Amino acid sequence: MTLGLRGHEEWDRIKKRLRAELGEDVFSSWFARVDLEAHNDGIVHLSVPTRFLKNWIQSKYRDRLLGLCQDEFGMVQQIEFSVRSAIRPSNGAEAPQGAGERSVDLRPITVPPTRPSPTVVLSEPRSDSREDVLAGSPLDPRYSFATFVEGRSNSLAFAAARRVADTKPGEPVAFNPLYLHAAVGLGKTHLLQAIAHAAKAAGRKVLYLTAEHFMYRFVAALKSQSAIQFKDALRGIDLLLIDDMQFLQGKQIQQEFCHTLNSLIDGARQVVVAADRPPVELETLDERVRSRLAGGLLVEVQQPDLDLRRRIVGARVTAAVKTYPALTVTPAVVDYVAENVVSSGRDLDGAVNRLVAHNQLTGEPISVEMAEVALRDLLRVREPKKVKIEDIQRIVSKHYNVSKADLLSARRTRTVVRPRQIAMYLAKTLTPRSLPEIGRRFGNRDHTTVLHAVRKIEELVGADRVLADEVDLLKRMLDG
Ligand code: ADP
Ligand code: MG
Repeated sequence: MTLGLRGHEEWDRIKKRLRAELGEDVFSSWFARVDLEAHNDGIVHLSVPTRFLKNWIQSKYRDRLLGLCQDEFGMVQQIEFSVRSAIRPSNGAEAPQGAGERSVDLRPITVPPTRPSPTVVLSEPRSDSREDVLAGSPLDPRYSFATFVEGRSNSLAFAAARRVADTKPGEPVAFNPLYLHAAVGLGKTHLLQAIAHAAKAAGRKVLYLTAEHFMYRFVAALKSQSAIQFKDALRGIDLLLIDDMQFLQGKQIQQEFCHTLNSLIDGARQVVVAADRPPVELETLDERVRSRLAGGLLVEVQQPDLDLRRRIVGARVTAAVKTYPALTVTPAVVDYVAENVVSSGRDLDGAVNRLVAHNQLTGEPISVEMAEVALRDLLRVREPKKVKIEDIQRIVSKHYNVSKADLLSARRTRTVVRPRQIAMYLAKTLTPRSLPEIGRRFGNRDHTTVLHAVRKIEELVGADRVLADEVDLLKRMLDG
């Protein structure tokens, strides 16, 4: 929470100045999601949601940011960036692949892919060749259909992805766009890249881009005055895959994306999009893009059930044994992992890697006892309890002794207003619901009313211990 933090006024001013200097579009592309974490001993700590953003800002705007921080904060020698983690706060064993956390390098799609490197070389793209104009995000050769394990939770997404990949050039497209959404680690990137591999192998012109990479390409093309070339090139491909759509920011970029989307879809070229939520919940997205995205086939990938988890673990173990032939992993261990690591494909991956690493480093055979120790912190990351808005309304109205009808009504007496604000605040912080949706569920209020309530409670909680404890108690009642 940045509100109430020491230094937030200065930080707000810095953001304002950046916005004025860079223009709304560039600002919202790169700086809207930068948060001030702390400011001490001459160091300003900023956090960003993805490694891509971190590298981009560091390489392009570090000096400017430092200058502004020195203006506003006084003594500042250094700016430190950290990447806010999407799911697990700390889990050192394995660098997660995919999602927003993967660093991106900018080689053309045709170069044999290597593991994404931790450092990013941001070279200005040359604009003279078509190849460069169409450079995509790197593909991981391991993300193929062959390595994807199908189960009940992803069978529709898998079938749709296969269908898209198998469509021959010139054949009518089945559903357009195909929109996959799911929580992090459930295989969206894997499926998108599997489509890319298969379609490329079939000779189709494929472009796989993360939304951030799309933004980067577009901004770079504008700068080098090759925007028209870039747009033409985009419209000439057979299959466009956009990953992590939730990160597409900036009005002009979204408009451009909308044009691209329209012309591809109208030209019967396939578009596939993946995001961490359905289109209606992409709050910052232009309405036209949202409705165009919602007009195709929407498929949600659910949390894997036990059977699927078991098979994913089995597949990972088989792959590990290929690398380490001496490795033995008993079915009991596979069961243990599948039963206890419940959150996502990524965590299952991480669990197997960790067992193998543990075994290789200590020589200890992989057993259930060993797994209990080696995976201790992964096991704690259980799927968080799903809090429902109805539960929040019920508990808040009981706690403050106001009726639910009053909570949802237009009444503005103090005894009702504060509990209502608290309930809206809890709905925003404990559920993945969007502001407009929360507004609807609280007597059809506008999303700005919800935003106001959230800000208000954040502010009060920062200053008022009693209220902070109360909110904390309500949270525990709902979360526990
Ligand atoms: P997302 O993009 O949805 O966050 P990823 O595609 O990056 O998730 O998946 C995270 C990791 O989990 C990857 O290593 C991926 O291969 C693995 N994974 C997820 N689901 C499956 C699955 N059904 N079969 C095989 N591997 C999977
Ligand atoms: Mg992903």
